[in-house]
Amino acid sequence: MNFLEERIAKDGILKEGNVLKVDSFLNHQMDIHLFDEMGKEWKKRFEGKNINKILTIEASGIGIAAVAAMHFDVPVVFAKKAKSINLEGDMYVAEVESFTHKTKNQVIVAQKFLTEDDHVLIIDDFLANGCALQGLIQIVQQAGATVEGIGIAIEKGFQQGGQIIRNLGYQLESLAIVDGMDVETGELTFREQ
Ligand code: 5GP
Repeated sequence: MNFLEERIAKDGILKEGNVLKVDSFLNHQMDIHLFDEMGKEWKKRFEGKNINKILTIEASGIGIAAVAAMHFDVPVVFAKKAKSINLEGDMYVAEVESFTHKTKNQVIVAQKFLTEDDHVLIIDDFLANGCALQGLIQIVQQAGATVEGIGIAIEKGFQQGGQIIRNLGYQLESLAIVDGMDVETGELTFREQ
């Protein structure tokens, strides 16, 4: 097991509805030393890629992306969740359905922070059905920018998002891929990488 898989096995909690709770170290309380290791690992996996910006989505992607950005020495832009009523001009907009909250949000990025000159690494905490990632990819495409790669902390390999994104041809680097979760026994199975 790698460092993240070990931490998930130790502190992750399985919930009904295929939800893995990792709020003691990843997306509520945040272990910044773990984030630092994750950033270092993504830097290695995306070696040689010309990346000048990291894009993530609020809220739980921000901390991970910010620490990872130190390793790439690039700025981080996060897509904001917005009610359509607040939308002003000069924004890229995409619709994202939340896996955990079962709601639809519009996510926005100001046009001035993403342009056709940008080579973007997308980072997020979880990949489940892939809605969040597809929204972020759409935003990069609207800007005419390039997706250089996608870094995910935890991919739930038994949901369809990973396959969809890999089939689209992107370099997707998930640091832990959970292939099975048994709520009854609390047992987790990780994919060999
Ligand atoms: P997707 O759009 O790929 O279906 O889901 C991705 C988003 O849903 C992530 O940004 C994450 O916030 C949330 N998410 C999906 N599955 C889980 C889960 O098992 N546990 C937690 N904590 N969040 C999840």
